[in-house]
Amino acid sequence: MSRPFQVARCQACAHAIFPPRPICPRCGRRTWRLETAGNGTVEYATSRRDPETGAALDLAQVRLDAGPLVTARCELAVGAGNRVSLALVPTGDTTFRLLASPVRDVRG
Ligand SMILES: [Zn+2]
Repeated sequence: MSRPFQVARCQACAHAIFPPRPICPRCGRRTWRLETAGNGTVEYATSRRDPETGAALDLAQVRLDAGPLVTARCELAVGAGNRVSLALVPTGDTTFRLLASPVRDVRG
């Protein structure tokens, strides 16, 4: 079962990062709050063949609405400008894959 993808937001300067770090790279403070990343916009997408299985492997760099740029596997092929939602999908007992799924939303 997937779970929401979260970023860490600095409580002092509101800078959001992923992955989390002990110290804010912008202001140097150590006070973080985790928040659901929400949706993002694909900046770059590529498709490869998995060398072992031959299956399509779609990857995208996604600029989160919250700020950070992340790399994710895609449920379906996407292109630059597409809106996606992100979720962590388990790949083992303690490992997760970041999965991007196309969404239709209207940004206000
Ligand atoms: Zn900060």
